Amino acid sequence: MSEPPVAFETYDVMIVGGGPNGLAMALALGGKAAQPKAKVLVVDTRDPRGFAAAGNDTRGSALTVATQNVFRALGCWDDLQPHVAEMRDIIVTDGTGRHEDRPALLSFAADAVRPSAAVITENCHINAALMAAVDRAPEIVVRGGVTVTDILTDKGQAQLRFADGTVARAPLLVGADGRNSFVRQHLGIAVDGHADGQTALTFSIAHDLPHGNRAEEHFSPQGVFALLPLPGNRSSIVWGTTPDHAEQLMAMDKDAFEAALTERVGRHLGTLRLDGKRQAYPLKRQVAQTIVGPRTALIGDAAHIIHPLAGLGLNLGFKDVATLADCVSEALRRGEDHGSVQVLDRYATWRRFDIVTTIAAMEGMSALFVNDWPVLAFLRRTGLRLVDKMPSLKSSLMTEAAGMTGTLPRLMRGM
Ligand SMILES: Cc1cc2nc3c(=O)[nH]c(=O)nc-3n(C[C@H](O)[C@H](O)[C@H](O)COP(=O)(O)OP(=O)(O)OC[C@H]3O[C@@H](n4cnc5c(N)ncnc54)[C@H](O)[C@@H]3O)c2cc1C
Repeated sequence: MSEPPVAFETYDVMIVGGGPNGLAMALALGGKAAQPKAKVLVVDTRDPRGFAAAGNDTRGSALTVATQNVFRALGCWDDLQPHVAEMRDIIVTDGTGRHEDRPALLSFAADAVRPSAAVITENCHINAALMAAVDRAPEIVVRGGVTVTDILTDKGQAQLRFADGTVARAPLLVGADGRNSFVRQHLGIAVDGHADGQTALTFSIAHDLPHGNRAEEHFSPQGVFALLPLPGNRSSIVWGTTPDHAEQLMAMDKDAFEAALTERVGRHLGTLRLDGKRQAYPLKRQVAQTIVGPRTALIGDAAHIIHPLAGLGLNLGFKDVATLADCVSEALRRGEDHGSVQVLDRYATWRRFDIVTTIAAMEGMSALFVNDWPVLAFLRRTGLRLVDKMPSLKSSLMTEAAGMTGTLPRLMRGM
C-alpha cells in the first residue's frame, strides 16, 4: 500500500517560537501594522496562548521609547499601558554594604527637557498584549504544542516538518526560538559567548511605601541587584548572584526569603512582600556568528543574549523585528522574493553594527561593575561621580537609553 500524500500548508512566512519576539514578528508582518499583510504561521513547543494567560514569565522589562513605538504600531499599547510604570529616575550605586550606607554615584532624573527613557512592565503583560493582538489578526495562525522535527531549505522555499507528519512551507523562515534555538542549530550556525557564572532571580514584590518611579541599580562583585518600578506600590526585581546563593534563595520559604530580601534592599520601601513566583535564570552572553542562513533569519535571543544589567535584551530583539519587517515588507510591496539572499543580507548588514556595539557596551559595563578588583572599584566610583556632574553627557546617555539613535526602522519611529 502506498504512503498517504503529505499535506502541505503554504504561508508567506513561518516563525518558530511564540515568545515576545516571535509574536511581535508575526504582528509586524501579518497584523494591523503590516503593509502588505503576509500570511504567517507561528509554531511553538508550548502553547503561547496558555503561557501568556498563566502569567508564567516573572521577568520585568524596561521598554525604551523606540520599543514603546513598536507596541503602538502593532496595536498592543492600549492593552499594555495600564500595566506600565514610567521610570522617572534611575540611581546607580556601588551596591556593597547596607542600603543606608550606599550613596548614589549616578542619577538620571527625567524632567521637562529629558523625558523618561523607558517604562517598566512585567513580561506576563507583554506576552498577553501581544497574544491578544495576534488573536485579532486573521492572517496569523498560531500552533502551540508542536514539535519541529526537520527543516529543509531548497527550491525557493523553507519547509518545516512536524512530529505529527504534517509539513508547512514558505519562502521565509524566522528563528525566534530563544537561547537554545533549534533553528540556529539546525542551520549549523555557531555561537560565540560564555556562561557568566551568575544566576539572576526574577520576581515582583509589593511594598508599603511608594517607589516614586525611581529605578535602582546596585552593582556588586556578586552581581547586579535591580529594583524597577511597577504601577502602584510594586516593583520588579532582578537579583543577580552566585549560582549557589541563588539555589539557597530559591529553596527558602516565603518568610525566610522576604527576610533575606529586606536585608538586601533595606527599609526605604517599608515592609516587602513577595508577589507571585520566583524564577532563576543562569546568565550567559551569546551571539550567533551570523543571523541569516538559507531562507532563514534569526531574531531575539536566538540571535543574541546580553547581560540583563541595562535591561536591553528584549529591546535589542524588537530592533531585529522592526528591521526585518522593513526589509521583508519592502520586498513584498515590490512583488520580489522576500526570502532571497538580497533581502536577508540587507537585514544582517543593517543589524550587525547595532548588535556588535550593544554587546561591546554590555561587556564593558559588566567588566566595570560586576568586578571586585580594587582598582576597578575605585575607577567606577570616581568615574560615575564625574559622569554625574556632566549634564550634557548624561543627556546623550538618556537619548541612547531611549533607543532613538541610529537609522531606525519604520515601526520604531513613532509614526
Ligand atoms: C534575568 C533577566 C532579566 C531580563 N531583563 C530584561 C529587561 O529589563 N529588559 C529587556 O529588554 N530584556 C530583559 N531580558 C531579556 C529578555 O527577557 C529576552 O531577551 C526576551 O525574553 C527574549 O525573547 P525571545 O522571544 O527572543 O525568546 P523567548 O522568550 O525565550 O521565547 C522563545 C520561544 O520559543 C519557543 N521554543 C523554543 N524552542 C523551540 C522549538 N524547538 N520549537 C518551537 N518553539 C520553540 C519557546 O517555547 C518560547 O516560547 C532579561 C533576561 C533575563 C534572563
